[in-house]
Amino acid sequence: MKLSTTDYWDNIKKSAECITNAEKLLIGVGAGLTASGGLNYTDASLAEKWYPEYFEQGKKSIIEIMSDFWVTTINKENDVFFWGFWARHIWHIRYEPQALKPYLDLFSIASGKDYFICSTNVDGQLEKAGFDKSLIFAPQGDYALFQCSKPCSQDVYNNNEIIETMIKNMVSPLAICSDDIPYCPKCGSYLMPNLRCDDTFVETPHIKNVDTYKTFIQNAFENKIVLLELGVGFNTPVIIRYPFEAITLQYPNAKLIRINIANDTISEKIDNKSIFIKEDIGKVLADILNKL
Ligand SMILES: [Zn+2]
Repeated sequence: MKLSTTDYWDNIKKSAECITNAEKLLIGVGAGLTASGGLNYTDASLAEKWYPEYFEQGKKSIIEIMSDFWVTTINKENDVFFWGFWARHIWHIRYEPQALKPYLDLFSIASGKDYFICSTNVDGQLEKAGFDKSLIFAPQGDYALFQCSKPCSQDVYNNNEIIETMIKNMVSPLAICSDDIPYCPKCGSYLMPNLRCDDTFVETPHIKNVDTYKTFIQNAFENKIVLLELGVGFNTPVIIRYPFEAITLQYPNAKLIRINIANDTISEKIDNKSIFIKEDIGKVLADILNKL
């Protein structure tokens, strides 16, 4: 059901009021927030702009291209091509962009609030927008880091310089120079992007804030808490979506604001404690910010 304009502005006004009156703000960030800022993995025009060579091979989205170079598929035959994609992708998604507008607006909305963030994104946008890393629980990894593929330790390695070197020395748009393939300094195995894909993922650096997150939630039971859920889909609903719904149901003064352009709904059980805005997230955040 498409909301009428009146309903839209009514929801914006209600959301702004809830946020203004909130004692605590719990923010859930999914891929939809970055997509709203213009970096959309399902967008054919972005795939064509960033990766014309793969696009001409028939890969019409970044998701399709990534599936050809999935993190666990590196071997002696494909390693220069594996890194040919990943060097360019990490550069485009992690190092090239400034903070995107929806993230900057979110930072303005949260400023001065007692907030905590749970994010499934790995693109560093929250930090770029100014959010304090100690107030973010982001358990899925970070494009800015490499890890050992075995892994032989829980160490991670900043990859900014390595990525720049790979790109500078590429032998074709599809392949890096074999001298630039990164190996683990401890055991000599391949280094890999530090992304959660299977049980080889090095998660220690990313779960260190989990206790702060738990404490924030536990201490909020009596509070007016607003759960602001932004572009969270069904890839990993156990991280944000389901817990946010459970808190909304159980906490007497909780309110869920779900902003998602995709066609989905809110469970009837929490219908009276929820606001669902099916619109572009960047537009919604800008409109809420104007009403604060
Ligand atoms: Zn190693």
